Amino acid sequence: MPPSLVRSALEQLFLPVECLLCHALLGERDTTRIVCPVCQHRWRHVRPPWCARCGQPEPHFGPCRLCAEWPAGLESVRSAVWLSEGAQDAVHALKYRSLPRIADDLATAMRDLRPNPDGPPGGGGALIPIPLAPQRFRRRGYNQSEVLARALGKEWRIPVLVDVLLRTRDTPTQTTLTPATRLANVAGAFAPGRGPGVSLSGRTLVLVDDVFTTGATLAEAARALEQAGARRIHGVTFARAAIPDFT
Ligand SMILES: [Zn+2]
Ligand SMILES: [Zn+2]
Repeated sequence: MPPSLVRSALEQLFLPVECLLCHALLGERDTTRIVCPVCQHRWRHVRPPWCARCGQPEPHFGPCRLCAEWPAGLESVRSAVWLSEGAQDAVHALKYRSLPRIADDLATAMRDLRPNPDGPPGGGGALIPIPLAPQRFRRRGYNQSEVLARALGKEWRIPVLVDVLLRTRDTPTQTTLTPATRLANVAGAFAPGRGPGVSLSGRTLVLVDDVFTTGATLAEAARALEQAGARRIHGVTFARAAIPDFT
């Protein structure tokens, strides 16, 4: 059994049955959940009007600057909630507190973000988590985006592909960077994977990440998937950070 599954099983056994965020006791019905309905209700959903492509609130004037430099294959990106306090705690728990179980709650919030929901069931679609650099993966023991993608894959009933995209180097988070310098910061950070020959052409691929800031990471990952033959790529994230001075 992979260590992450063992950990998740242990969590089920030993964690007190209380909400991770507000510590209210969870009802018996909610024991597979970790965030109570009240806290989930507080997550502020990202709502239109937004740029049809990147899902950022519509600019006050002129075309959207955020997605102008994205590769052509990246058709749309959507996020479920704004990275406000409660959502931040949830992301933190997913990432640093070894609580992969919270992924089910985040995936529930992302349920309606599915691109082409009216397409055929499955529809050749697949989820691709944003990979971690190997060193970071070893340190953390799991990839939070993969845990999130697996929870979303259950929700949407589509497969998760982990071998088609590799991270070739780590990119330290630098929150002060502008969208353009962020794009430069992640340039070349991903490469097509060397996994068993899965054909990507003609499939609708959905990149999954926990947080969207400028979309630079998703754009760079999409570029690597394009190299591997993908033509229709979407992105979904649980949260979206507001960018100061950027509308
Ligand atoms: Zn709560
Ligand atoms: Zn845009």
